[in-house]
Amino acid sequence: MKEVTIVRFRSSKANEFRLWGLLLTMGGMLLMILGLAGIVFEWGAAGRLLAAIGMVIGAILMLASMGIYFAAGMMSTSAVVVVCPECGKATKIIGKTDRCMFCKTILSLDPAHAPSEGALPAEPAKAGQESASTTP
Ligand SMILES: [Zn+2]
Repeated sequence: MKEVTIVRFRSSKANEFRLWGLLLTMGGMLLMILGLAGIVFEWGAAGRLLAAIGMVIGAILMLASMGIYFAAGMMSTSAVVVVCPECGKATKIIGKTDRCMFCKTILSLDPAHAPSEGALPAEPAKAGQESASTTP
């Protein structure tokens, strides 16, 4: 029970990858701009060196972010779209277990993890019991 409350603050894998891609792109651009300051303010040889280092690290960060976006794209092609039992919206599951993109509920496709209320359709007998106990 404790774990669920902590975990709810984290986002789904797809959102996480998008966030890291964005952060790396912003960081790379910031480094390039900071490096250019070495040329703009005429700090001489040290300034030019700073600009070169900033450009190289910035370019590497932006390349890494492109790699992350590419990986996220590859992963989302293998994602399974399910209707979240918590909020009723269609969300993507990457891998066996992922969180709902809207309400952060943990959803699992693994039958071993199937609880009383999971992403999988429940057994007919159980489903009848559930609808009887949780009538809105
Ligand atoms: Zn949801």
